[in-house]
Amino acid sequence: MGDFIYREGRLHCEEVPLERIAEEVGTPFYCYSHAGLVRRWRAFSEAFASVDHLICYAMKANSNLAILKLFINMGGGVDIVSGGELHRALLAGADPSRIVFAGVGKSRGEIAEALRAGILMFNVESLQEIEVVNNVAGELGRTAPVALRVNPDVDPATHPYIATGLRESKFGIAFAEALEAFRRAKEMDHLEVVGIHSHIGSQITQESPFVDALERLVVLVEKLRAEGLAIRYLNLGGGLGITYKDESPPEPRQLAEALLPAMEDLGVTFIFEPGRTIVGNAGALVSRVLYTKAQPEKAFLVVDAAMNDLARPSLYDAYQAIWPVAEPDADAPRVPVDVVGPVCESGDFLAKDRPLPPLGPGDLVAVMSAGAYGFTMASNYNSRPRAAEILVVGSDYHVIRQRERYEDLVRGETVPDFLR
Ligand SMILES: *Cc1c(COP(=O)(O)O)cnc(C)c1O
Repeated sequence: MGDFIYREGRLHCEEVPLERIAEEVGTPFYCYSHAGLVRRWRAFSEAFASVDHLICYAMKANSNLAILKLFINMGGGVDIVSGGELHRALLAGADPSRIVFAGVGKSRGEIAEALRAGILMFNVESLQEIEVVNNVAGELGRTAPVALRVNPDVDPATHPYIATGLRESKFGIAFAEALEAFRRAKEMDHLEVVGIHSHIGSQITQESPFVDALERLVVLVEKLRAEGLAIRYLNLGGGLGITYKDESPPEPRQLAEALLPAMEDLGVTFIFEPGRTIVGNAGALVSRVLYTKAQPEKAFLVVDAAMNDLARPSLYDAYQAIWPVAEPDADAPRVPVDVVGPVCESGDFLAKDRPLPPLGPGDLVAVMSAGAYGFTMASNYNSRPRAAEILVVGSDYHVIRQRERYEDLVRGETVPDFLR
């Protein structure tokens, strides 16, 4: 996690001490490294430089406007999963002809918005959706470019909540039914079938599931071409994992080495939708210790960030490394503690039984690998204002989202007259 390093005993993001940000903007806050984001984006794009490709950043991983703009400036497209994400992407200046739209439950309204915006394609997930997209396109007098999301039925060997490419998954069209679905789509008056989409899961730490999926998709491309369907795009989705603890996922370059032989002569433009691998380790959530507490069976560190700020530990039992902002002595004793937040739920924890050096009220901790699925999954549970977001650039930082205020918590709520 080279963007966060100890210098002179203090954890820095690039050249900025996290303590300084904590003093100036308060805690908790998300902190992202500009250099880290740029480096990971480039590594991904350069790995596939030898084939025609478009990277559509999966913005659900981190949808802050500044971060979107950064990737858009680097030539990226965007993978969206809702009308709200379309709104953000356009606001950040995304080129609609580089936006792809996935998701199992697109509403007619969302489909219409995306058609009007002129997106690159819909990644359609079911036969019913094919008909709805066709229908909405007809009403608007447009032709909808579509890729069908097929489910290559490979096991990504990841957490079951984030495996999406298995037969029993709610996502995509079963591989065995794909040919028939493409035939149906081809007959629709207001659709143009331009590609195949797949996304087999998230936090995948090996090349092999991607290789297996690609093999099956290449066969499908050839079958479809034999039936006169011009497949121009093959979208391999996202899902490349990162190191949270001791995983060693392939680098993008290694993934490319495994995939390129089957990609090179296919005559399509490849689309990738990386999310986590670009932003995950470029961000941390910084929080202040409020209290320490020793119960008979367990020691707790109560911090000012909670499950509403970072849901992954509660939601997936995910491991997020915790680094004290003041560098601990190498020989300081490590004692297992639960790092918990102020939310009134036993499931509110950021770490369990984590060996940490002695920490006390006022000390700062950084919850690492929090750049992806961190802020975007945050809520206002317990009426907690959502945290600030900070982008560090060298020795400067920018507040890219203000900490929410109490007014934000009640925006849009009204008490009807009869209750007054
Ligand atoms: C979530 C998602 C991604 C990104 O997944 P990561 O694991 O963050 O790379 C890409 N494509 C689709 C369709 C998704 O739903």
